[in-house]
Amino acid sequence: MASAPDYDVIIVGGGPVGLMLGNLLGKKNLNTLLIEKTAAPPAESMAIGVTPPSLDLFQALGLDDVLVNRGIRVELAKVHEGRQLAGELSFQSLDNPHPYILAVPQATTINVLEENLLRYGSVTLCRKTSLIEIEQTEKMVTAKVKKTGATEFKQVTASFLVGCDGHSSVVRDLAGIKLTGEKEYPVCFLMADFADNSGLGDEAHLFFSRHGSVESFPLPKGQRRWIIQTDHLINSPDKALLIRDVQRRTGYALKGSKCFSESMFRTRRFVCQSYHSDRVALCGDAAHVMSPVGGQGMNTGFADAEFLAEALFKHFSNSEDFQALFEEYDHLRRLAFTVAATRAERGMWVGTRRGSLASVLRLFLVKVLLGPIFNKSLPAYFAMLTIPYRSLSSLDNDQH
Ligand SMILES: Cc1cc2nc3c(=O)[nH]c(=O)nc-3n(C[C@H](O)[C@H](O)[C@H](O)COP(=O)(O)OP(=O)(O)OC[C@H]3O[C@@H](n4cnc5c(N)ncnc54)[C@H](O)[C@@H]3O)c2cc1C
Repeated sequence: MASAPDYDVIIVGGGPVGLMLGNLLGKKNLNTLLIEKTAAPPAESMAIGVTPPSLDLFQALGLDDVLVNRGIRVELAKVHEGRQLAGELSFQSLDNPHPYILAVPQATTINVLEENLLRYGSVTLCRKTSLIEIEQTEKMVTAKVKKTGATEFKQVTASFLVGCDGHSSVVRDLAGIKLTGEKEYPVCFLMADFADNSGLGDEAHLFFSRHGSVESFPLPKGQRRWIIQTDHLINSPDKALLIRDVQRRTGYALKGSKCFSESMFRTRRFVCQSYHSDRVALCGDAAHVMSPVGGQGMNTGFADAEFLAEALFKHFSNSEDFQALFEEYDHLRRLAFTVAATRAERGMWVGTRRGSLASVLRLFLVKVLLGPIFNKSLPAYFAMLTIPYRSLSSLDNDQH
């Protein structure tokens, strides 16, 4: 007789989504191994916008206060066309316990989730451990894992294995899951976090212009993030270019301010053909990638984790058929992703059109959208509160 698997679930990848899933499974007391190939959480800020549905999830884990206290509540966003203020968007009237977008570095979010894992005796986190291979049988998954620097593999078994290992997911490849809807957008962005001398306080500012866009967000510890659309595709960060274009497009001078991090990014979109293959499932960027414009990728991954944790719990507690549960997970989360990714794509398209005609048309559009007719519904839209199947608690409303 085959022996029982070592774990209920193996999670591959201790980024924000894998750690969220680890916490949710720990809360449900499922025996979980989380492996992460790096030795320590990243120091970079990376994703910074945490939306209200995700904050609700942090609240369910008892972590919303600790996260909110380490971030900045962005209650107001101002939109400019050229040097002209085109409109404002206030999140204060949102019908949610968290009427704001929280600006908090991804490194902090990871730390908060990782520290909390210690509370759960049923979850083991192994850093410096990489997944190398998987093998599936009818009853379990065997993972070959390797410690950094070790020459030998170790074999661990689980009833299920979840790939939370990011956009270049090894789990996805090993499970033979292909991508669909792949798109590379012809835009490129430079991003840097500076000491904040702008006087913009806790507000987010979006500057659209005929020369390209600039986005500016507050960060904790007296810092501010600036992101510019570049004139042409580039291959490496260029702080001098960013400083020049921020000044040219917005009038804000960053020269002389301390720069804490700089990077560049291109934008693309894809989704996996299936969110699961037998006993292997995908979650977060391993399953899908969208343009970071609009700040929805990590938040979509958090909601994936919530739905997948529930599916796994239903299987272990009620012996529900896991194939049917995974099919439903695929269906609901694919819909949510499609809506979020399409919004990100549309927002990026509108914001990055160049030239005088585009600038005039955009000013008109922004004034209409942020004017009295639509202004009431837009905050919920940008706070991801109108994404279908954004959380388990929204399920009943969305299905009627
Ligand atoms: C510039 C930029 C800004 C963004 N801003 C936002 C934002 O404001 N809001 C938002 O919601 N999203 C934002 N995003 C998107 C967000 O960063 C991603 O959606 C998020 O990081 C996905 O998290 P994840 O845990 O799925 O994957 P990742 O963060 O990629 O984590 C994957 C983890 O898996 C580990 N791993 C990989 N392979 C293995 C292996 N074989 N074995 C063990 N471990 C492995 C990696 O080391 C890593 O820790 C932004 C993205 C970019 C590029």
